[in-house]
Amino acid sequence: MAHRVIILGAGYAGIAAALYLNKNKKKDDLSITIIDKNPYHTLLTELHEVAGNRVDEESIRISLEDIFSDTDIRVINDEIKDFDFQKNHLISSNLVYKYDYLLIAVGSSPAYYGIEGLKEYCYPLWSYEDSIKIREHIKDCFRRASQINDDSERARLLTFVVGGAGFTGVEMIGELAQWIKPLCRRYGFERSDVRLVIIDMLPEILSLLDKKSIEKSHKYMEKKLGIEIHLETKVQKLTEAKVITDKQEIDTRTLIWTAGVSCGDIAGHAEELEKVGGQQCLRVDEYCHTIYKHIYAAGDCVSFLDDNNKPFPAMVETALQTGEGAAKNILNAIKGKKQEKINVELHGTMVCIGNYFAVSNIMGKRLPVWLSIVMKYLVNAHYLYQIMGLRGSAKYLKDEIVHRKQDKNFFEKHYTRKMQAWWAFPLRLFLGYMWLYEGIIKITEGWFNGPKLAEFLGMRRGYEIAADAVAAATSSGLRIDNFFNLDLKIFHIIIGHATRLMEGVEIAKNMYAKIEILDFRGWSLMPWMIKSLALSSQGGEMFFQITITLLEIIVGLMLLGGVFTFFGSVGSLLLIAMFVTTTGIYDYTWWMVFASIAAMGGAGRAFGLDYWIIPYVNRVLESKKKNGRLRLIFKKD
Ligand SMILES: Cc1cc2nc3c(=O)[nH]c(=O)nc-3n(C[C@H](O)[C@H](O)[C@H](O)COP(=O)(O)OP(=O)(O)OC[C@H]3O[C@@H](n4cnc5c(N)ncnc54)[C@H](O)[C@@H]3O)c2cc1C
Repeated sequence: MAHRVIILGAGYAGIAAALYLNKNKKKDDLSITIIDKNPYHTLLTELHEVAGNRVDEESIRISLEDIFSDTDIRVINDEIKDFDFQKNHLISSNLVYKYDYLLIAVGSSPAYYGIEGLKEYCYPLWSYEDSIKIREHIKDCFRRASQINDDSERARLLTFVVGGAGFTGVEMIGELAQWIKPLCRRYGFERSDVRLVIIDMLPEILSLLDKKSIEKSHKYMEKKLGIEIHLETKVQKLTEAKVITDKQEIDTRTLIWTAGVSCGDIAGHAEELEKVGGQQCLRVDEYCHTIYKHIYAAGDCVSFLDDNNKPFPAMVETALQTGEGAAKNILNAIKGKKQEKINVELHGTMVCIGNYFAVSNIMGKRLPVWLSIVMKYLVNAHYLYQIMGLRGSAKYLKDEIVHRKQDKNFFEKHYTRKMQAWWAFPLRLFLGYMWLYEGIIKITEGWFNGPKLAEFLGMRRGYEIAADAVAAATSSGLRIDNFFNLDLKIFHIIIGHATRLMEGVEIAKNMYAKIEILDFRGWSLMPWMIKSLALSSQGGEMFFQITITLLEIIVGLMLLGGVFTFFGSVGSLLLIAMFVTTTGIYDYTWWMVFASIAAMGGAGRAFGLDYWIIPYVNRVLESKKKNGRLRLIFKKD
């Protein structure tokens, strides 16, 4: 019979474990089941972005069916209420699940430390639902404040307090500082009507960061965002209308609580398992074993100790590495191999305070603000790539950069506008037709039969005669009159008029543009390359001209069919780049540059084969990544 492995909790640790088992089980007879109370995985690290109305709630939850599609992992949506460790049972309201190996990865929940009124009146930021509740509450506060005449109640409604100046609290108040600007505009308030307060009992914010980053963040929050920072301040009581601290009382209808972590409720119910510390996390050894050798635990719900017996912080990296390490040890146990010590390595931390400020410390290096912001995007995109493939990271980046809902600057407002792909469909067809036409014309002109390239480029084999030199020497041919010359040495940009002459009479006149690359004292890179590569022998010339013709035909067909349109458009740009740096291009073909750029933005998804090809390719790559083997045929969805 197959070994039954159950993973309880589809958070960061649970998903990492399930995917590891699925990919590495090879021929082991294993049934892998993941159970979660929600049908989705929540990106907990991004909750503040929903609470602060930066992104839509759908961007922080990912369907478990989507994550585990095309794998051998069974997903069960159920809430486990109890354990029977003697019988190896997990118990929900209606069902009992049997396992041979269990991994508990139920995460953490907020801690209220018995503070009077806190649990009843605060807004914890710990789940998908919490983030929506906070967002709607803040909108409601502004709405109500704009409708009442009572000044003190208005001030209370417009005072927002965050409890806890760790990563979550600071990121939350940073989001709020950003969001209140459009809210004030919408409801007719001044920024000075709104109070933003953050409270912590420690003497500094973001205590896990280095001193310089702490000071920088503190200054930015106070001076730029107008946030009041109350340190060494303990929340002692919360009522519906005020926060009472050991130093003062703050009239408010909002306390967002981010200050305490306790181990998952259900892990707390696992009475037979050992707990440690005030947070009551599960005790595990260096293999992520609990006291039972077939029961493992990982992620936030455990206290996983480093070599100095200090627990690793409850962070995503800890969860991923303990989850994967536990999965590896489950496989080791099944195979009868030795258990392996799990070495957690943390690479750094980063905190974003609103849209335009971030601090980070990656592998001991403090990064500048812009790089910290980029790192945050890259880290999240990488995580989503791990669990959802390219579509995961693409969706994340789109949600963050294009679909962002918050206040946007002038530039952002413009680049985030969306357009339906089918608007670019006729342009894509026309561009494709032009390349195909160009290629076919070259075939009919004999480009496959004999040397033509030198003539086309206005050059002679082995040595060069510039087109304008030909024109100058005869009364028939092409005359180039440059009227714009920008010589940057690396690029020499020339714009002029190209006039075709027949026995001294002008028969056509067009604008013409050319870019010469690395143009020094009569020596230029492209003519040199052409002369020494393409025109050095007849075979070379034939090879290059056939390649150009075929490329034109292939790019044309790709664009016409909407097949890998992005790459087709890049090919189109490269061909244009080749022409503009060799022969130069006339004004009647300049449109192709702009059409190629426009076609890059998904033009093949509308009335093109990319509609089917791109999802299929993503599926093949994702399945290869998750299963460790190539699969080309899938069941119909
Ligand atoms: C607001 C916020 C911001 C954060 N920001 C950062 C950050 O910037 N960087 C960072 O590194 N870390 C951050 N963290 C911490 C990080 O999110 C956690 O360390 C990580 O989520 C732990 O992963 P996990 O798998 O242990 O638990 P979780 O991700 O919490 O997953 C636990 C899963 O178990 C499920 N579950 C729980 N009980 C049951 C039950 N009884 N039955 C069935 N299913 C159950 C839950 O539904 C959930 O899906 C943040 C945390 C929060 C709350």
